[in-house]
Amino acid sequence: MISQLNRRISGVWDDFINLFYPNICQSCGNVLFKNEHAICSRCLYQIPKTNFHLQKNNPVSILFWGRVKIEYASSYFTFAKGSKFQKLIHKLKYHHRTDIGIELGKQLAHQLKGSKFFDDVDLIVPVPLHPKKQKIRGYNQAEVIANGMNEIMKLEVNGTNLYRSVHTQSQTRKSKLERWENVDNIFKLHETTLFEYKHILLIDDVVTTGSTLEACAHAILEAKGSKVSIATLAYA
Ligand SMILES: [Zn+2]
Repeated sequence: MISQLNRRISGVWDDFINLFYPNICQSCGNVLFKNEHAICSRCLYQIPKTNFHLQKNNPVSILFWGRVKIEYASSYFTFAKGSKFQKLIHKLKYHHRTDIGIELGKQLAHQLKGSKFFDDVDLIVPVPLHPKKQKIRGYNQAEVIANGMNEIMKLEVNGTNLYRSVHTQSQTRKSKLERWENVDNIFKLHETTLFEYKHILLIDDVVTTGSTLEACAHAILEAKGSKVSIATLAYA
């Protein structure tokens, strides 16, 4: 009874807040309907989806050929520079809009559920941020995405076992070789036994050169009998 009342009060409160600060789509700026979160249905429909989850050999999985053994890899959408969808990732990373990560994580999970490749995944593991960076930002965007995915896939998210051991400078201004050198061997597992014989789904916001994901996969594959697949929100 009390909880019902609380829910009604919070519902009224939400409506009151929305009157002055309407929830707007973080992509187009239109006011959201009650059942929409962070991104409106129209923008979700317009996101340029890759459908890589339906092809084993796709531009993301091919990125890792000859570098590290990846079972399956997919990205939810393609990332055009300056597009309104790139702005979503920017807001997720730098403007505390974790609601974008939750919503897009859910969309990514719905997409992967439509593919047989990801049926036997045991664990979701977000690419770790360095603790210093996470402290400044307040959250790890890859973990936010993983938590959104968990709402749909109902798989355990492990954001602690894989960790980053040294602080790296921002990746964005480096050449491909520099980026690769910069992240190689910096990821480690606290306990390899936790990932033994597990199919791990490694999550990140964007894949560009794949060097960070590659280094993470190498660390995970130290666990006996483990397998790694990859999913990111965007493919740049
Ligand atoms: Zn919109």
